Order: sequence, then structure tokens, then C-alpha cells
Amino acid sequence: MKTIFDINFKDKKAIIRVDFNVPLDENFKVTDATRVEAAKPTIDKILSDGGSVILMSHLGRPKGVQEEFSLKHIVNKVAEVLNIPIKFASDCIGDVAQNAASNLKSGEVLLLENLRFHPEEEAGDVDFAKQLSQLGDIYVNDAFGTAHRAHASTTIIAKFFPQNKCFGALLAKEIESLNKVLQNSQKPVTAVLGGSKVSSKITVIENILDKVDHMIIGGGMTFTFVKALGGKIGNSISEDDKQDLALEILRLAKEKNVQIHIPIDVVAANAFANDAQTQIVDVNHIPDGWQGLDAGPKSLENFKKVILKSKTILWNGPLGVFEMKNFANGTIQLGNFIAEATENGAFSLVGGGDSVAAVKQFGFEDKMSYVSTGGGAMLEMLEGKTLPGIAAILS
Ligand code: AMP
Repeated sequence: MKTIFDINFKDKKAIIRVDFNVPLDENFKVTDATRVEAAKPTIDKILSDGGSVILMSHLGRPKGVQEEFSLKHIVNKVAEVLNIPIKFASDCIGDVAQNAASNLKSGEVLLLENLRFHPEEEAGDVDFAKQLSQLGDIYVNDAFGTAHRAHASTTIIAKFFPQNKCFGALLAKEIESLNKVLQNSQKPVTAVLGGSKVSSKITVIENILDKVDHMIIGGGMTFTFVKALGGKIGNSISEDDKQDLALEILRLAKEKNVQIHIPIDVVAANAFANDAQTQIVDVNHIPDGWQGLDAGPKSLENFKKVILKSKTILWNGPLGVFEMKNFANGTIQLGNFIAEATENGAFSLVGGGDSVAAVKQFGFEDKMSYVSTGGGAMLEMLEGKTLPGIAAILS
């Protein structure tokens, strides 16, 4: 795996695909610069070698050129984070971009306008990719969040750099961390899969059954399993057409010697609302009119035992409706258990949109071994797929 650390960038122009798809407020101020900060190590390394940097990214989902999605809004924030002045090109291809790129000197940074102002970006257009490629000497992909897309700047462009392409520090760390879980993992390996639906996680579950010793299934998915096993789930969410699949997963798990842990009790509510009445009930006996919205105390006790004896832990998806304070306990406790296991030497990887949001919200970010930055990309890797953006660098 070739990374920026294998290349000396002296007097070279690196064209880097970053993920600067940051949130902006109504005054177009950046409200969370995490993604810019995440790209800093790669940019710093190239500049300290004596190279120059051309940054390209998308922002939002513009339909053609739309001022509100212009990357000019983030120039000041990027300059602040990198602690260096930033040049800006008002188009990512054409004369504007070419002139700006050819005038770039060692130690300088140029940010290109939103790639998605051109529909050719998402279409993976070869000619558009070629025009981007002509701006730099070396192509670096450091955008994990879009590595599962075969877009011009994430994948197609790589073919114009047969020798001069590599992974940035962030993307390399993402791949390394996932490999630590999926390939070179220390046993016992435990996956915690929560969230709302079996249907959105099914391919992940099937793929990782071959790689884990324990699987904790929580969140809304619980009830499809419980119902399939003949339990009474009241008004809890369930996907009735996925019951056979749930039973098949349990059968496969047995065959592969994977221990599945499902909540045995839940916090049930008489409405999907934070101020609903609640009671702790057995997961198989949820009264009509009540729905399970969080894992109960006995379940958490079981999960704790499993987590604390694990050496590798993967966490994707919350254990309950953590957005509501009264149903956040299971997710917070789970975070505590994983933090404790990590402190005792386990490797923990958290990923997938909602679990990352939960980890940030409850302050667990620094207590996990690695928090992935790419929701969809991580899920696809867990599903066993080869991501086009990664394959393009490896080929
Ligand atoms: P996902 O995007 O599939 O990871 O699902 C995340 C969502 O699942 C979060 O918004 C949670 O509120 C929701 N969720 C977790 N547990 C439950 C539950 N028991 N009932 C309904 N929704 C849930």
C-alpha cells in the first residue's frame, strides 16, 4: 500500500482529493472543521517535503453552479486550520484552474472550486478527470467518505498517474484500522450492530459472521429477531418480511460458531417520545401499545461481560433511540464498556454515521482506538466490497 510517507514531494505538485464537505451555517461559516483538520497531516507532510498542494473536494449536492455550495466559503477556515494562506481557483478545471496550478510555488496551497459544479464529476467522466489530472504531478486520495464512489476525482483520475499515486495519511489509517478488525484481528472479536433496520445491515452481518466470535445485535433490529423467534414485541419496530432472514442469520451464526447476543430486556415506552411513560420489560413480552426504545439493565450487564473480554471491537449503530435523552442510556453504557475495554488494551473501531454522532455527542471520541470518518464507505468495506477509490490506487 503506497502512502504519502513513501514519496518525497520536493518540487512536486500534489493534487489531493480531500473530503471538505463540511457543514455551513446560514452565514456560510463552517460549523465543524473536523474534516479539514483530518486532512492536515497529509498536507503538512507534503509542504514540509518542499512540495505544493492542490486541494479538490465536493461540498453538498449542488445542481450545477450554485453560489451557496461554493468552496470559497471555507477558504478562511482552511487557512486557519493549516495556518498558511490559501489560494482559491473559482473553477476546478479550465484556464482559471490551470493558471492557478502552474503559478503555484513550493510551500503553497491552492483550493479548487466545488468539483460537483460539473456533473462530469459524479458521472466519472474520463475527460474531466484528465483535465483535473493535468493540474498536478502526483495524485493523492485522502477522502475516505467518497472512496466508495467511482467519481472522476476519487477513482477515474488515478489512471492518469500510473506510477505517481498514493493514499493520504487519513485514508491509509482508515484502511489500516478496518483491516485490524477484518483481517489481522486479535481474538475474541466482537461486533456490535445497532441502528434501526435489519435490511440496511444485512450484508454487513452476513460478511462479518466469518470474522467475529461474538455479535451483539441491538437497537431497532432486535425486534425482527425477537418476533421471528416467537416473542411478543408490542408496537416495537420490526420488518416482518425479514423474519426468515433473521432466522437464517441465527442458523448461520450457530454453524460458524459465532455467539449472538440479543437484548433480553428493554426500556419500553407507550409512545415514540422522550416524555412517554416507560417500563423495563422482558424483550419477549412487550405489552400491546408499548415499544422497545432502548436496551434494558440485564441486557447491558450481558453486553458488558462480552465487551470486556473482547480484544477487538467493532461498533456500528446505536443500541437505542439515543437522540432522546430517556432512551440514550444503552448507547452511553455501551460506549463506557468499549472505552474500558480499550483502556485495557483492546482495539476498538467505531463507524457508521449514527454511532459516530453518538460517540461525539457523549464524549467518547478520544476513548476509542479509531473513529471512522466515512459512514457509507465503511459500511461497504464491512460488507466485503472493494471500494473503487481504494482499488484505483492499488491497481
Ligand atoms: P441506522 O441509521 O440504521 O444505524 O439507525 C440509527 C437510528 O436507529 C437512530 O436514529 C436510532 O434512533 C434508531 N433506533 C435505535 N434503536 C431503536 C429502536 N429500538 N426503535 C426505533 N429506532 C431505533
